[in-house]
Amino acid sequence: MQLTNRSKVVSNKEQTMMEKLYIPGLLKGMMITGSHLFKKRATIDYPKQKRPIAAIYRGQHVLKRDDNGAERCTACGMCAVACPAEAITMESAERKKGEEGLYREEKYAKIYEIDMLRCIYCGLCEEACPKEAIFLTDRLVDVEYERKDFVYGKDKLVETMTERIDVSGRQTPEVLEFKKRPGLKHNELFDGKKIDNKKH
Ligand code: SF4
Ligand code: SF4
Repeated sequence: MQLTNRSKVVSNKEQTMMEKLYIPGLLKGMMITGSHLFKKRATIDYPKQKRPIAAIYRGQHVLKRDDNGAERCTACGMCAVACPAEAITMESAERKKGEEGLYREEKYAKIYEIDMLRCIYCGLCEEACPKEAIFLTDRLVDVEYERKDFVYGKDKLVETMTERIDVSGRQTPEVLEFKKRPGLKHNELFDGKKIDNKKH
């Protein structure tokens, strides 16, 4: 069965003297190679040079801190449940007295890991997070030699205070507008006393 029209009938005819010398074929090949010296390169010198990418590019994740430097993640597990690749695992712990500056809520992620080889960079963890703790960024995952090195823990995921990662470009005008609604105060710390039972 013919799959394409690119097939050629093989000829077994005797080679001419010129063909046996291979010189015309060599010259033709060198001319093609030489012609590329004057053409615009299709490649770039990565990682020295990088191509522009979209503001909402989905690369390596970041676990955000709040303005005071406390980790926003409360180990609720919503991201892990939403993840179609089952790439996220975590272990929660209770915040101790005196750790208020480290963790924003009473429960925090003692261990938080993402397997970057399982991840399909869909962004569903980012959408599922009720605390704006996890975002995908424009950073590319580093090349490693061992599979185990692709399992990123908090040491690689949590942003440092000195190198904050700006994710504002990922917030669409609609999302920013949504957060302004007084009735929905997005990401506000939970306060049971504020719930108006009459409305529920
Ligand atoms: S980007 Fe998608 S696949 Fe990757 S960890 Fe998040 S939810 Fe899972
Ligand atoms: S990153 Fe967000 S969704 Fe995931 S456990 Fe932390 S707070 Fe919950």
